[in-house]
Amino acid sequence: MDVFEVLLTLVLGRIRHGGKNGKSPVDLVLGCVDNFEARITVNQACLELGVKWMESGVSENAMSGHIQFIKPGETACFQCAPPLIGASYCFLQRAMPFIILVF
Ligand SMILES: [Zn+2]
Repeated sequence: MDVFEVLLTLVLGRIRHGGKNGKSPVDLVLGCVDNFEARITVNQACLELGVKWMESGVSENAMSGHIQFIKPGETACFQCAPPLIGASYCFLQRAMPFIILVF
């Protein structure tokens, strides 16, 4: 079993049993991880279990970020539609963006 499989097993368990009573599954996963591999792992787990998740992150210089809602079977998953990275200027607000919504 490689590292990805070990992490995937852990994430699957947390989603399956992470409800309030410690037995039921969660309704929504809030992704707050700091690397691509972890996002891919959460993505795979949510796809396997059909659980919605909100992926989020910020750029390394903390001047931009993203929030992405992923609903298995209805929206593209994280791996197929990764967020826009590197947007450094918001033309609509004529300012540096704090949040970029990607759907
Ligand atoms: Zn996909």
